[in-house]
Amino acid sequence: MWRGRCSERLAALTFDDGPDAQHTAQVLDILARERVTATFFLIGRRAVEAPEITRMIAREGHELGNHTWSHRSLWLCGPKETEREIIRGHDAIAEVAGCAPRFFRAPWGMTNLAVFPVIRRLATPCVFWSVQPEGQRAVEPECQVQRIRERIKPGAIVDLHDADGVPGAGARTARMLSDLIASLRSAGYRLAGLSDLL
Ligand SMILES: [Zn+2]
Repeated sequence: MWRGRCSERLAALTFDDGPDAQHTAQVLDILARERVTATFFLIGRRAVEAPEITRMIAREGHELGNHTWSHRSLWLCGPKETEREIIRGHDAIAEVAGCAPRFFRAPWGMTNLAVFPVIRRLATPCVFWSVQPEGQRAVEPECQVQRIRERIKPGAIVDLHDADGVPGAGARTARMLSDLIASLRSAGYRLAGLSDLL
C-alpha cells in the first residue's frame, strides 16, 4: 500500500527505525501534546534493547509495525533469511510491546518475492509511503516540512525517521515535528493512524 483513502484530507505520520531512547521519547512527547496518533515501524532488535520506550509507544495508543529484526536489505536475503528477519522482528516486537505489530514495512522499501507469503501469514500488510522528506541524504528540518507540505495529498502516508539510519535523522525529525503538524493542520489535514487511513 502506498496511500490510503482519498475521500477526505486525512494523512498518516509513520516513523521508521526506532525505538531510540532519546528521539522516540521526544517524538512521543510532541504527539501527546498535539493529540496525534501515529504508526511506528520498529526494528525488532532495537525494541528488545529499549523495552521501556517500546511499551510506551503502545501504551500511548500508537500503532506498531514490523520493520524486520535487524534492518537488513531483503533484496540481498534469500527466502529463508527473509522469513527469519520478518518473523523474528514480528515476534520480538509482539513480546516486548505486549501486542503484535499490525503492519509491515521493508527496510528502504526493498522487498523480494519471499516477503509476501510470510506477511500474509502474519496478517501484516506491506505499507510503503507516498511522501518521504528525507531519503539517503540528510535534509534540513525546515526543508522537510516544506517538501511534505508541497507533496501532501489526501490519503498520504508520510515516512519519517525517529532513529538514525542516516546520521542525525532522529534529531531532525524531533526538531521539525511540531512545525510539520501545525503546517498540515493549517492545510486542513487530520492526522491518523494507518488503520484509520487504510
Ligand atoms: Zn528503515
